[in-house]
Amino acid sequence: MSPDSKIYEGKAKILYTTDDSEILLTHFKDDATAFNAQKRGTIAGKGEINCAISSHLFQLLEAKGIATHFIDCPTPNQMRVRRVQIFPLEVVVRNIAAGSLCQQTGLALGTAIAPALVEFYYKNDALGDPLLTRDRLLFMQLATPYQLEELQAAARQINEILKVFFNECGITLVDFKLEFGLDRDRKLILADEISPDTCRLWDRSETDPDKRVMDKDRFRRDLGSVETAYQQVLQRVLAQNV
Ligand code: UDP
Repeated sequence: MSPDSKIYEGKAKILYTTDDSEILLTHFKDDATAFNAQKRGTIAGKGEINCAISSHLFQLLEAKGIATHFIDCPTPNQMRVRRVQIFPLEVVVRNIAAGSLCQQTGLALGTAIAPALVEFYYKNDALGDPLLTRDRLLFMQLATPYQLEELQAAARQINEILKVFFNECGITLVDFKLEFGLDRDRKLILADEISPDTCRLWDRSETDPDKRVMDKDRFRRDLGSVETAYQQVLQRVLAQNV
């Protein structure tokens, strides 16, 4: 791997080109950031853990008919993925009120949401990833009306699969963020990662609002035992067959 093949370095991952122009290599880092990178740190082993969790979940979703960018993992913290053109959107699905939803609406933490909320945020660090309305998203041509429907439907379908899966792991899927792209045939492909960095996951055997947290909120809120929580998620995910 030549160093100049790096095409992008994000907060948690580095993307490299490969010999095949249709295939990229993702390197999962141990670095952690929160609050639009104002808080920075390292979570030991996170790269390998998130790579393994994401790879397991992508394979689960593929088996259920969802097209993803996942190809394989050549090393424990690297994932080969299909090259796609990423929508500059963060698609957030919420089953239970937490995080920015509570801050912005006053809804109590833990309020059940059914059917799930599907929200779109503009992927733009300089603007702080603002929440978009449907009209703004369409006006800005971030997706076509048809693609917007497709994104919403895919997000809901993925939520149904992941909710059931995590439930079987003894984990409540509170909310999560997805990113999608288009392949050369303009087909919708699930991309990025699905991990405790991008999902809120609550241990179903714990009622204490801090003890139950198994995701990046442990880092965001200085709850401690971050590595242990991520490892616990990995163990439970791997214990379930795809
Ligand atoms: N999320 C993410 N990346 C972001 C913003 C949010 O992965 O840039 C995930 C976050 O981990 C949570 C869900 O999306 O699982 C909803 O996040 P929220 O809008 O509540 O924002 P937060 O409170 O995390 O700032």
